[in-house]
Amino acid sequence: MHPAQKFGDNPVEVRETGHYTEEYVPSFVEKWDSLIDWERRAQSEGNFFIDLLRKRGVKSVLDVATGTGFHSVRLLAAGFDTVSADGSADMLAAAFANGMEDGHVMRVVQADWRWLNRDVHGEYDAIVCLGNSFTHLFSERDRRRALAEFYAMLKHDGILVLDQRNYDAILDDGYTSKHTYYYCGEDVSVEPEYVDEGLVRMRYSFPDDSVYHLNMFPLRKDYTRRLMSEVGFQNVETYGDFQHTYRGEQPDFFIHVAEKE
Ligand code: SAM
Repeated sequence: MHPAQKFGDNPVEVRETGHYTEEYVPSFVEKWDSLIDWERRAQSEGNFFIDLLRKRGVKSVLDVATGTGFHSVRLLAAGFDTVSADGSADMLAAAFANGMEDGHVMRVVQADWRWLNRDVHGEYDAIVCLGNSFTHLFSERDRRRALAEFYAMLKHDGILVLDQRNYDAILDDGYTSKHTYYYCGEDVSVEPEYVDEGLVRMRYSFPDDSVYHLNMFPLRKDYTRRLMSEVGFQNVETYGDFQHTYRGEQPDFFIHVAEKE
């Protein structure tokens, strides 16, 4: 029997950084890949990250939010020297198996971002934190701490690439996401069940009627950019979806690219 997600009697009060390990239970992790449909995801994303990293001369990459391995596998396939970290052992096990299927022996390390330097060694040309992962940090202290750990693990000319859902749109205009990026599984519906300035509780419903939730902190775009600068990152650039410009219609996701020096 797989353990169920545990949110207690009042799920909207669960606003804790460390809670992500209880949310990504194995049954949810197993469904994750049907939820995000790798092929369609790869199509909609194109080579955005790969091109960006190549253009900057990146060779070594630390994927700090490996999840089930989508980006790590793509990075390995593109020839980057990649280390794959995540705080969830279940996620890493799934990632490793996915990597093997594609012919890669992934280098995986279980590490929480708050103590990243304790568990992961070396310095990298780039750190990627993708798939709306940074949203799992619920206090500003943890966000600053994680960013400082990322900063410390970069080479002097290294870059951080971090994406996030467009929470400004959810907080200000109601939920209008087109669901084109990331959550491309045909039969999976993803919707916010509860929203306030300190919590977006997302509901994931699968075709077999199972339902899972993730509690996330709604990062406003300018807030994330400011935090990155305050921790010491330079030249924080923000892209909408996977285009170089965003105007008019609201993008679903933002991608921040920040330089160490
Ligand atoms: N990047 C993957 C993708 O795009 O498919 C996975 C994204 S998943 C939404 C978020 C991942 O971040 C999970 O695998 C979770 O275990 C990890 N995570 C969340 N908070 C973390 C923390 N404080 N330290 C380390 N990993 C964390």
